[in-house]
Amino acid sequence: MKDSGKVIVITGASSGIGEAIAKNQAKLGDKIVLGARREANLKRIKEEIEAVGGQAEYAVTDVTDVDQVRALAQKALDAYGTIDVWINNAGLMPQSLLEEQKIDEWDRMIDVNVKGTLYGIAAAQPVFHKNNTGHFINLSSVAGLFSHQAGVVYSATKWAVRAINEGLREEEAQAGKNVRVTALYPGAINSELLNTVTSGDVKAGMTEFYKKFGVPAERIAQVVQDVLEMPVDTALNDIVIRPTAQAM
Ligand code: NDP
Repeated sequence: MKDSGKVIVITGASSGIGEAIAKNQAKLGDKIVLGARREANLKRIKEEIEAVGGQAEYAVTDVTDVDQVRALAQKALDAYGTIDVWINNAGLMPQSLLEEQKIDEWDRMIDVNVKGTLYGIAAAQPVFHKNNTGHFINLSSVAGLFSHQAGVVYSATKWAVRAINEGLREEEAQAGKNVRVTALYPGAINSELLNTVTSGDVKAGMTEFYKKFGVPAERIAQVVQDVLEMPVDTALNDIVIRPTAQAM
């Protein structure tokens, strides 16, 4: 097995896209540090990676708590001595109409999707700057490029990720520390994301949509592999990945 020596921290690694990235990069010889709240899932994924000869550790992490995110970074440093790639992937998408006033869900999306991304940057950036190299990959969405009814707050959080990504890219370029910054903008990817939708009609419509158009999370893992294989003097900054048949 090739050992690329990369240490990759992934938030939201307990299912879906995060799990697929973790398993694919572990297969390629990278060392994976998994973060999320569901310990049983993290343990299972670590064991599945190890069963095929890969390396993984995990730390139970709620990304809305900056201390827990910093502890996730520390876990990587303790286990593998460094961090080469930090993937801000944790997110949720409880879509609803604004008039439904699901204020708790709005707050939760802002806390996880936006603050969680910022906390990840805060945790990994000092390591990257010390190492004079590093790579952030931030999960936005096609909803970070467009906004539609029932997806307003989710879109707002993913537009925010886009803004964070672009500003971070500029700051890192100016700092001259060889830190690459990539945002991914996926369309419909089959995962557990729809479980977070509590609005009945909206959920029924989205379930139908994903059934029709959704593609496996392994597609995003393939893109991450390509992003990481680019020579370090060049960064893929913004990548939109949609099912071919998905119109919007
Ligand atoms: P999943 O629901 O399968 O995965 C979401 C992950 O986020 C889970 O591992 C969950 O873990 C984690 N998570 C949620 N809340 C927290 C928290 N407070 N702290 C830490 N981790 C948390 O969905 P996806 O794999 O699809 O989602 C991954 C990312 O991709 C999200 O940012 C999503 O917005 C984005 N995306 C997904 C698309 C899709 O169609 N699936 C399209 C575009 C973007 P746990 O519950 O164990 O904490």
